[in-house]
Amino acid sequence: SSIFSEVPEAPADAILGISVAYKNDKNPRALNLGDGKPLVLEVVREAERCLLDDPKQDKEYLGQAGVPAFCRGSAKLAFGEDSPVLKEGRNATVQGLSGTGSLRVGAEFLAGFYPGVKQVLIPNPSWANHKAIFEAAGLQTAQYRYYKPATRGLDYEGLLEDLGAAPRGAVVLLHACAHNPTGVDPTREQWAGILDAVRDRGLLPFFDSAYQGFASGDLDGDAASIRMFAEAGLELLLAQSFAKNMGLYGERAGALTVVSADADTSARVESQLKRVIRAMYSNPPRHGAEIVAAILSDPELYARWKAELKGMADRIISMREHLHAALRERGTPGTWDHIQDQIGMFSYTGLTRRQVADCLTAKHHVYMTLDGRISMAGLSPESCKYLAAAIDDAVR
Ligand code: PMP
Repeated sequence: SSIFSEVPEAPADAILGISVAYKNDKNPRALNLGDGKPLVLEVVREAERCLLDDPKQDKEYLGQAGVPAFCRGSAKLAFGEDSPVLKEGRNATVQGLSGTGSLRVGAEFLAGFYPGVKQVLIPNPSWANHKAIFEAAGLQTAQYRYYKPATRGLDYEGLLEDLGAAPRGAVVLLHACAHNPTGVDPTREQWAGILDAVRDRGLLPFFDSAYQGFASGDLDGDAASIRMFAEAGLELLLAQSFAKNMGLYGERAGALTVVSADADTSARVESQLKRVIRAMYSNPPRHGAEIVAAILSDPELYARWKAELKGMADRIISMREHLHAALRERGTPGTWDHIQDQIGMFSYTGLTRRQVADCLTAKHHVYMTLDGRISMAGLSPESCKYLAAAIDDAVR
């Protein structure tokens, strides 16, 4: 018997389970639409070659806040070249372990220092890890309405109602763009309405930006929500990930920014962020952040990155068009415009758990999450036709 014999088995990770099932399927038509298809960008290879040849590169520990040029570059990427927040030194930006680790450092900071209500409102649905991250840091979580199954769009009224009824001073998690898993984003006007609701209720916005540039191909456009809030003078938190937009998944390159009302506060906030980091993992890894810093600070590499990023985003947008056209061609019952309207890597098809499990996966070898979410990055023009036939079969 073991001291740990009472430890229960943790539930399996849904996405990893899908990849395993897909790998065990010997059917040549099998499709894995669980998660993205990591691809190493040419510009990342180039940046790595430059780093290898740079005699100044060593393996010394970084400071707790990480690579300074990475932090500066990340903040500029999110808030914009001429951001008053950056000019006034109102940001404390530290390197984090990709998006997840940056969210966690932010959560730990809030648990220790946020004087408001330590409850985080998370959209329903959201990336499954949000709840786990905030609760692991000792914060409470609650949900606000976000997705409306009937329209396969935003439940804007429900969202405003829920934010309006939230405890004053609670924290609200917002997906900056390309909402995961729904692919449904607020319009500019709706963002303005959300901003008003946040301000009226004194909520503290915490932006999760995991897809900047990957959603529309336009880095500035995908940061519009963050900039709208920052330019309105709100204090906020922001977690950034370079997993998708630079394809740096396993390098764990990300950043956390806390925007405060003045530079003085910001300096003290930064000192506490470092303290949080020190106790969790001392300092972050170098390689991924050095790659990002090189790309963000070299005009030529930056231009090449933007072009590759646009290529990835355009490819996903064109898969949406292919799939939409294939469904219309078949006359598949129902409306499928949401496939084209949704934004980012994922599409929330509206298929039920039963349709996914019994038909798409069991009969047609299409692997995807049971909530009906597919990764558009896993499709090609040919497989869009195959997927359309499978969806058609499932809904008839
Ligand atoms: N937030 C959202 C909404 C995501 O979809 C993801 C990645 N799936 C992340 C954060 C964090 O990913 P990572 O830690 O790999 O940057």
